[in-house]
Amino acid sequence: MIDTHTHVYLEEFDEDWEVMIERAKKAGITKLLLPNVDSDTVVRLHESCDRHPDYCFPMMGLHPTSVTSSRKNDLMEIRSWFDKRKYIAVGEIGIDLYWDKTYIKEQKQVFIEQLHWSMEMNLPVVIHTRDAFPEVFECLNSVGVHNLRGIFHSFGGSREELEKVLQCENFLIGINGVVTFKNSNFRDHLNIAPIERIVTETDAPYLAPVPFRGKRNEPAYISYVVEKLAEVYGLPIETVKKKTSENAHKLFKI
Ligand SMILES: [Zn+2]
Repeated sequence: MIDTHTHVYLEEFDEDWEVMIERAKKAGITKLLLPNVDSDTVVRLHESCDRHPDYCFPMMGLHPTSVTSSRKNDLMEIRSWFDKRKYIAVGEIGIDLYWDKTYIKEQKQVFIEQLHWSMEMNLPVVIHTRDAFPEVFECLNSVGVHNLRGIFHSFGGSREELEKVLQCENFLIGINGVVTFKNSNFRDHLNIAPIERIVTETDAPYLAPVPFRGKRNEPAYISYVVEKLAEVYGLPIETVKKKTSENAHKLFKI
């Protein structure tokens, strides 16, 4: 299994980092893909990937909730890293209007700029969208969604939204612990997405699956997401593991 979206470099893991990595390996997680957040997380992200270079793979990007008045400098700094190191994707990027709408215009500009980077460098994008589905599509369409490939991370949307995502042929759907929550109604229509379009993630330390809901999440818990997916798709657990890992390998070329 692959955790395609995990922030294990954050301080929530400082105390038991190596033990947490061991637990992930024992649980059968073969790779961790680490999206960046902003300028403040870059050093920690690189440190984690340098400690386990064959296990932790970095992405680079500016998260929408970190789009502030310093965005121009932040973007310049983040862009400069692509010339210095190897990254598997531009991420995580997108639009988040749940917490704050102050920078809606700027969030769109920053998102579009980073979509251009992904085309320039031929890298996938990992998209965060919260209360901003139409705005995200407006940006994707402005650069041409067929020019892009990537993941709609932490998907939990309506049937209509899922249908819209499915029309973006080069995009996969990232499913995390939310699929195990009691009130997750997207479970009912999730299987209109072929399993070939699904990848697994944790978004650790956030969004721990049931039975750990509300606690710190970690990559080892991917197995709970896989179990739920097996139920939703009526497939053997081993098939879900194999398919979702293949999907991630293909997209990220890892
Ligand atoms: Zn994230």
